[in-house]
Amino acid sequence: MQRIHSPLIMQQKSRELDRMDQSLALVPTMGALHRGHLSLVEKARSLADVVVVSLFVNPTQFGPNEDYARYPRQQEQDIALLTECGADYVYLPEMEDMYPQGFATSIHVSGVSEGLCGEIRPGHFDGVATVVNKLLMQTQPNVAVFGEKDFQQLHVIRQMVQDLNIPTQIIGAPILREADGLAMSSRNAYLSEESRSRAAAIYRVMNLAKEGIENGDVIADKLQWIEHQLLDAGFASVDYVACRDEETLAEIDQLETSARLLVAARIGETRLIDNISIGRSQSE
Ligand code: AMP
Repeated sequence: MQRIHSPLIMQQKSRELDRMDQSLALVPTMGALHRGHLSLVEKARSLADVVVVSLFVNPTQFGPNEDYARYPRQQEQDIALLTECGADYVYLPEMEDMYPQGFATSIHVSGVSEGLCGEIRPGHFDGVATVVNKLLMQTQPNVAVFGEKDFQQLHVIRQMVQDLNIPTQIIGAPILREADGLAMSSRNAYLSEESRSRAAAIYRVMNLAKEGIENGDVIADKLQWIEHQLLDAGFASVDYVACRDEETLAEIDQLETSARLLVAARIGETRLIDNISIGRSQSE
């Protein structure tokens, strides 16, 4: 696996692949890789001839009181994992190339970036949209793979790509979970042993609510019930519990076709997010 640091060399490599009729897939990450990330790499390999994975902890998507400074960084371990799972290139842009002095552009996607994490983390999705746009410009991939773990993020990126005519196909990939159902996340490393064992309540409780809603329970009641259950299970606070249309992210109060239950809650100092699909026969 080859390492690329410079945006210019990345662009040259991408154009070279294009001239050789080789398709390219990008998997953008902030590193601290786990099996969830690796499942995206595998998906990318099934979609294109060549796979590039970017590792960049993007400062502009963290709020001033968030965990940018302590976000886990383990570059050499990440590179070993990527080599093992067959990525072709790892793209490691430097901070001064991503945000040189005088950098003045920010991308704001309205609509889908409002509410949910957008409301709790002001500016977060502007940071995400801007960095993903840069990564797409630098790697110029045919496809890019994102996890449904960050469901609202996936919508923000789809909207941006559509609005800005970016010639990259955006693919969503399912959430990988630990054996007890906790969604894999780089932030799970923050959890104490006790918080870790309590954290699986999110998935358990969401699934019970899903069953209730699919059997006709009132959605608003079930959302409240989830919040109470999480607080009872030892969560410090709940940022939101929501039921949204899978395609538009619009709030829904009645299950017609398919919807998503989305939760963000804090346990100890750690903020966890998760979501499951409801109203479909397929199980999550
Ligand atoms: P991150 O490094 O956390 O920014 O995540 C990079 C990509 O991996 C994003 O598209 C995430 O949605 C995706 N991802 C994170 N956790 C998981 C997971 N448990 N299963 C599948 N994809 C994930």
